Amino acid sequence: MTTGKDTVLVVEDEHSIRRFVCDALHREGCATLEAESVSSGLSLAAAENPALVILDLGLPDASGIEFIRTLRDWSQVPILILSARTAESDKVSALDHGADDYLTKPFGVAELLARVRALLRRQHQAETATPVRRFGDIEVDLSRRLVQRAGTPLHLTQLEYRLLATLLANDGKVLTHRQLLLEVWGPGHAQQGHYLKVYVNRLRQKLESNPTQPQFLLTETGVGYRFQS
Ligand code: CA
Repeated sequence: MTTGKDTVLVVEDEHSIRRFVCDALHREGCATLEAESVSSGLSLAAAENPALVILDLGLPDASGIEFIRTLRDWSQVPILILSARTAESDKVSALDHGADDYLTKPFGVAELLARVRALLRRQHQAETATPVRRFGDIEVDLSRRLVQRAGTPLHLTQLEYRLLATLLANDGKVLTHRQLLLEVWGPGHAQQGHYLKVYVNRLRQKLESNPTQPQFLLTETGVGYRFQS
C-alpha cells in the first residue's frame, strides 16, 4: 500500500462483530475485505495483500492460530487478534505464533481504532526505517549501539541493550515473555520469566522519567511487554 486507502482484512464469523469492526474501519477511511473462515481468509489475504488483518481466534473451520501459522509462511502483514476473555492461553499462543497485538472482547470503537492506527503506522514506518530512535529524552542509535539520555551517553549492559533493541524493533507490538526470553537470552531460557522482569525494571530505571509509571516500556499483564513510542 503506497497511496490511498489501506485495506484491512477482517476474519470473523460473528456477523454483528464483523459489521461493528468494518463500520468503524470505513469511518476511519479504510477499505475492508471480509471473511468468515480461516480458509476464505487465507485466500483473500493471498489475493488482495491487505495492509492489516483483524482476526477472530474462534473460527468455524480451524483455529485462528492455524491462520497465523499459514499466513506467516509468506507474509509479515500486521495481525490484530480478537479474543474472548476466557481464552487467555490462546491469546498468548497467537502472539507467540506472530500476531502483533490483541483486543479482548467486548471492546469499544476508540480502542479498536487506536490499535489499528498504531499497526498501520508501524507498517508504513517499516518502509522508511532509520537506525535512530527517539522517545522522551532518550536517543538510541542502533547502528552505533549508542544510547543517550538528554544528550549524555548512558551505559547499558549487553543484555539490557539487546532487550531494548528487541523492543524497539517491535514498536507498538506486544511481545510475549517467551518471545523476549528466546530473542534476548536464547533457547533454554524460555521459562525464566524472572530474568525478564529484573531486566525490564533496570531498563525502566535508566530510561523512564518515572520508572514506577512507565510511559514507554509497558507491561501487558499475563502476556508480556510492549514498547510504545
Ligand atoms: Ca468466533
